[in-house]
Amino acid sequence: MALAFDEFGRPFIILREQEKKTRLRGLDAQKANIAAGKAVARMLRTSLGPKGMDKMLQSPDGDVIITNDGATILEQMDVDNQIAKLMVELSRSQDYEIGDGTTGVVVMAGALLEQAEKLLERGIHPIRVAEGYEMASRVAFDHLERISRRFEFSADNIEPLVQTCMTTLSSKIVNRCKQALAEIAVKAVLAVADLERKDVNLDLIKVEGKVGGKLEDTELVYGIIVDKDMSHPQMPKRIEDANIAILTCPFEPPKPKTKHKVDIDTVEKFQTLREQEQKYFDEMVQKCKDAGATLVICQWGFDDEANHLLMHRNLPAVRWVGGVELELIAIATGGRIVPRFQELSPEKLGKAGLVREKSFGTTKDRMLYIEQCANSRAVTIFIRGGMEKSQMMIEETKRSLHDALCVARNLIRNNSIVYGGGSAEISCSIAVETAADRHPGVEQYAIRSFADALDAVPLALAENSGLSPIDTLTAVKAQQVKESNPHCGIDCNDVGTNDMKEQNVFETLIGKQQQILLATQVVKMILKIDDVISPSEY
Ligand code: ADP
Ligand code: MG
Repeated sequence: MALAFDEFGRPFIILREQEKKTRLRGLDAQKANIAAGKAVARMLRTSLGPKGMDKMLQSPDGDVIITNDGATILEQMDVDNQIAKLMVELSRSQDYEIGDGTTGVVVMAGALLEQAEKLLERGIHPIRVAEGYEMASRVAFDHLERISRRFEFSADNIEPLVQTCMTTLSSKIVNRCKQALAEIAVKAVLAVADLERKDVNLDLIKVEGKVGGKLEDTELVYGIIVDKDMSHPQMPKRIEDANIAILTCPFEPPKPKTKHKVDIDTVEKFQTLREQEQKYFDEMVQKCKDAGATLVICQWGFDDEANHLLMHRNLPAVRWVGGVELELIAIATGGRIVPRFQELSPEKLGKAGLVREKSFGTTKDRMLYIEQCANSRAVTIFIRGGMEKSQMMIEETKRSLHDALCVARNLIRNNSIVYGGGSAEISCSIAVETAADRHPGVEQYAIRSFADALDAVPLALAENSGLSPIDTLTAVKAQQVKESNPHCGIDCNDVGTNDMKEQNVFETLIGKQQQILLATQVVKMILKIDDVISPSEY
């Protein structure tokens, strides 16, 4: 596209290869964009809430994913409309900043777009709509602050934190085990948290999974786990106060280069060679022992002879450990990666309070646990479960745990909460509606529409739980006004009360605020686009 001027100085736009492009302008552009955004939101709507549906997605190479996580659904979908991509970005931003609420934010944006469409049809200018939305979002933002509550917890009273994580997990496929998983998530976050500075480095929490066993067997390991076992079945399975040599050099005699020739034509020569080899091994093992190592972890393999010798000399070893893991072990245990036996020295050894090999059930699966590491507070969440040969369940558990970890981290950063189940949205809707009365201008229509759009979340929650949406919403809203109780929400699980405080369903304040901010931002952006130039279909 280029801008040019004619002889009278009037600007005009030149489209390169004009005939190959389509162009939508003005209201048509806005309507087309809104339709695209709404389509994405409509799809996610049914996944919202504890009774939300899951989506099954198949990637081009045939992998199947089943998930309930908004960000993941959108990520996996092949979206080629630019506006729809914006919605994907929206969900991703929520995921990046908060970690939870990725479905809700898209549902909210979809509702805002839907309301905007009606306003545009009534002839209200998109800019006025955008301004009205902006005002309304600020009202809602502040209102959330007002209805929020401080939420007290400490390192020895983690129950409240567990409750919040449980709310997050209750809408996931793994909700059968939400109590156990929530506890694991909270303990993991607290293990790496800096409560003084109110900060959590989630990178220190590694989430690993291994197919097999039950979801209930998922555990938190204060250390690192490696998918390897001791190189010899007779080596000890448990080493306390381990001094670990971390080696990238192989346990084998130097190989003759291709140009050399070794002639073995007599038994004696063979014997000498054999003794030579053994001497090599012996020296290598001796170097490790001299340095004080009680465990060697090798990047490379070694043959049966070396293995036997290691066992014989009582030096347990692990072989074929990947580079990344090797590095992680080195960092956690405070050791150095040693590339040559000559360079081994006591201070280069890593230290761990306990190294043990654990086998699972009747299977031959074994994992190496390195715990009580010297240097690091790093923890690992080790997920079990899933069907034979199917990573699906493990992957979804990872995603769900990610949400729970983020929620716990957010609470440590800022311990304010609002109640869930759509109660906060309903309360905001009422507040925004009231605020509209204070605006005499055209914006009031947009502000009212914003209030209506906020109802989308409780409506979707009700619908997904098999309740009649409008009736339920009206009843709950009336109750909120009558009892001036902002905690009334949708009783999705048919508990018998719709007071979310009693149900212990809450979400973080910053998460909810972020949802409103991000959704408004995206919708404003979409509304301001009035010219869409794209290559036409071919
Ligand atoms: P998101 O990806 O947006 O987090 P979820 O599928 O996790 O979407 O659903 C979150 C919504 O479900 C929130 O509005 C939350 O308040 C609500 N919710 C979660 N658990 C319950 C419950 N037990 N009762 C009612 N609402 C719930
Ligand atoms: Mg959630």
